[in-house]
Amino acid sequence: MTNVSTPVFGARDPDARGYFGPYGGRFVPETLVAPVEELERAYLSVRQDPAFRDELARLLRDYVGRPTPLYEARRLTAGLAGARIVLKREDLAHTGAHKINNALGQALLAQRMGKRRIVAETGAGQHGVATATACALLGLECRVYMGVDDMARQSLNVFRMRVLGAEVIEVNAGSRTLKDAINEAMRDWVTNVTDTYYLLGSVLGPHPYPLMVRELQSVIGRETRAQCLDQFGRLPDVIVACVGGGSNAMGIFDAFVADRAVRLIGVEAGGRGIRSGEHAARFAGGSAGILQGTRSYVLQDADGNVELTHSISAGLDYAAVGPEHAWLRDQGRAEYTWIDDDAALAGFQRLAREEGILPALESSHAIAHTCRLAPTLGPDTILIVNLSGRGDKDVQSVQQMVGESAGTAR
Ligand SMILES: *Cc1c(COP(=O)(O)O)cnc(C)c1O
Repeated sequence: MTNVSTPVFGARDPDARGYFGPYGGRFVPETLVAPVEELERAYLSVRQDPAFRDELARLLRDYVGRPTPLYEARRLTAGLAGARIVLKREDLAHTGAHKINNALGQALLAQRMGKRRIVAETGAGQHGVATATACALLGLECRVYMGVDDMARQSLNVFRMRVLGAEVIEVNAGSRTLKDAINEAMRDWVTNVTDTYYLLGSVLGPHPYPLMVRELQSVIGRETRAQCLDQFGRLPDVIVACVGGGSNAMGIFDAFVADRAVRLIGVEAGGRGIRSGEHAARFAGGSAGILQGTRSYVLQDADGNVELTHSISAGLDYAAVGPEHAWLRDQGRAEYTWIDDDAALAGFQRLAREEGILPALESSHAIAHTCRLAPTLGPDTILIVNLSGRGDKDVQSVQQMVGESAGTAR
């Protein structure tokens, strides 16, 4: 039997310049052209190398704990009285989310490229923790850039990264959040390019990052496909995933893009509502533009200035979405919707009470949309939700938002 955790790469490449239709590409300053080209050559070479694929498959199995289960949520299904709800349990991967799949793959690539120093950016700290973990495992030096405001909000993750041996650098520039941390990480990369690798956390940035991160996350979809055929004897009808940069969604969508009958639904962060302007729903409130190396959908004003975003979940709180999502949407292959903060919170509480699973607030957006959609579908419908991460990291903020009422019945 073939092991579905073994990577299969190169099936749906962008064009040679890194474009998915009119989106993607490589918008970098002169100083970054050579490093990005070196990275592209290295990645296109290792993804065909059986030794690299075997090593990655071994670590995904023995270290990350793959394959993660595909679990039918029977109580949630009964309560919604519609489609059968099935969860892909990325929350059970090591470090509690899908991000480790990408961090480990890129850290292995860095090692092969002879780079012993890793730089990364992080917003909420989840990607920073995954990167620090991969670096500890492989004995690589790790430096993570983080906005000061994010560091204050996510002090536990800062401590986690430091325990794992990473150096966390505070970024005081600009809005002191993720966007500014990305700029600082890129500056570090340019300055120290001979021994340094920039480990990006989602399907964003200049080519080849959107392709590489999608392929490293595509193990989610490959497993889901095989598990669904095995458990239900057929493909699913609907797949729902939350979309920040878009890596967990691309990871699960990838194996189903060619199956036109499978509906693919991405859920963005609606924050306090689209009209409030305080959200991160790029497809509902944004337009085509260039941000941090790639052309995609961006939340920007009429002059092209990037707008401030808001979401209850830090992992969805970003002004741009991965370019391949914009392309899938233009082609009508994937649909995108949004869920606001209050509904996401209700999704969090519902999965906790009815299934004994605390979802990450990011994943709670996908759960909340599922709770709306499932009752409109028949009982023969199989709906798979990508449960991108666990919610232990979010219990404190949930407690602040709902107070002690979280602990009582409705
Ligand atoms: C970071 C994160 C996300 C958002 O990132 P994507 O690249 O859109 O997947 C979603 N869920 C969890 C649990 C995360 O940590």
